[in-house]
Amino acid sequence: MLNLFNRHKRARRVLVLGLDCASPHLIFDQFKDELPTFSRLAATGTWGELTSSTPCITVPAWASMTSSSDPGVLGVYGFRNRKDFSYDRLVTADSDSIRVKRLWDYLSDAGKQSVLVGVPQTYPPHPVNGYMVTDFLTPGREASFTYPAILKAEILKLYPNYKFDVSNFRSDDKERLLQDLIDMTAMQTGLVKHLMKTKPWDFFMYVNIGVDRLHHGFWHFHDPAHRLYTPGNRFEHAVRDYYKMMDSFAAELLEIAGDETTVLVVSDHGVSRMDGGICINEWLWRNGWLAFKTPPKNAGGLMPFEDCEVDWANTRAWASGGYYGRVFLNMQGREPNGTIAPERYEVMRDLLASGLASIPDPVGQALNTQIFKPQSIYQQVNNIAPDLLVYFGDLHWRAIGSLGHGKYWSLENDTGPDYANHAVQGMFILNEPGKTGAGRVEGRQLMDIAPTLLERFDLPIPAEMQGHTIP
Ligand SMILES: [Zn+2]
Repeated sequence: MLNLFNRHKRARRVLVLGLDCASPHLIFDQFKDELPTFSRLAATGTWGELTSSTPCITVPAWASMTSSSDPGVLGVYGFRNRKDFSYDRLVTADSDSIRVKRLWDYLSDAGKQSVLVGVPQTYPPHPVNGYMVTDFLTPGREASFTYPAILKAEILKLYPNYKFDVSNFRSDDKERLLQDLIDMTAMQTGLVKHLMKTKPWDFFMYVNIGVDRLHHGFWHFHDPAHRLYTPGNRFEHAVRDYYKMMDSFAAELLEIAGDETTVLVVSDHGVSRMDGGICINEWLWRNGWLAFKTPPKNAGGLMPFEDCEVDWANTRAWASGGYYGRVFLNMQGREPNGTIAPERYEVMRDLLASGLASIPDPVGQALNTQIFKPQSIYQQVNNIAPDLLVYFGDLHWRAIGSLGHGKYWSLENDTGPDYANHAVQGMFILNEPGKTGAGRVEGRQLMDIAPTLLERFDLPIPAEMQGHTIP
């Protein structure tokens, strides 16, 4: 009888507030007293850190969370992936690249209605039993960005300048960036409230990209450990104030959702101070792995790797920059001008990994660099994965792909000012009506979310899901 009673007490609806890049340290510790809604949800819920995917970046992290598949199964290793084994063809990982079912697909099959706003890798929109407004990778308002298509007119009537993201978040114009963030957030949160009130839903999920943009643009104003931090700077509280804004927004959502709704506040990864970048192609070049027909000069500014004339017949490896490093080996029989014999693959890969792991910081201290082989961390390796994934210096260092630095490290980001990198630990708070949660828990990971929510809908958990239900 007790079981039956509990099942009836289960919430019929689930609301997910996704905060891209939201930090467990800020929400659970540093800003705790100033975030009454999140603190209240945690006080009666289950909460803690949430280990992200490898790589811990937005694409593929949200897709991994909502499908409970690792990036290798998804075949998505970043925003842009190699399309084939040629040297230069890339494909953007949008919704068309996701071949597995995500939460809302299972819910649609079960007749449950979903409303999705801003969930990464939902553009271009695909049918769902409910409504969808696509994510920050949407090219613009002229694009088809809703399901059903007719919803677009309703949105543009409410918000003629609706924004999917802020433009150029790697900008020195901080006034403009902060204002854009606030404007975008006002529109998106306004839309979320409108849809919550006017559309039927069993499952509502909104992902806010603003926290991520805020961190990248303002982290050095906030974090005393950042080398560019100055006490009392005029943006010192920008990060805190944005979190407070999201907390007030969460309170409004709870009010609309009512008491009988299960609430999940979740991030896809955390944030860490960025100290600088490791010039990975510069290192590969100077250590004989990468060859150029004309050596890149360090006099006339930086050269994007794509603009360099690579001597492929004498190249054994090259890399792409980003929040993490992606390294590719030039394999015979795989790449067009491969140089490494297939039987030498593991030997050369290990040799290169140990070389990259030994790159020191600018003062010669060891960086705590982690290197991953896709075959060791994924259940399957679909599409074209990097041969090595590199987290430099505990992700306090990004990977810089351009050439012409004249050294292996740089304090400037070659793609524009950026002061934060991602961190492996994101956060979650799960709060359920009529149920006291477990409080702080450890060891939870991104892929636990999809089975947990399916279970809350009393739906079966597909065997291929890699995560485990949070009780
Ligand atoms: Zn993210």
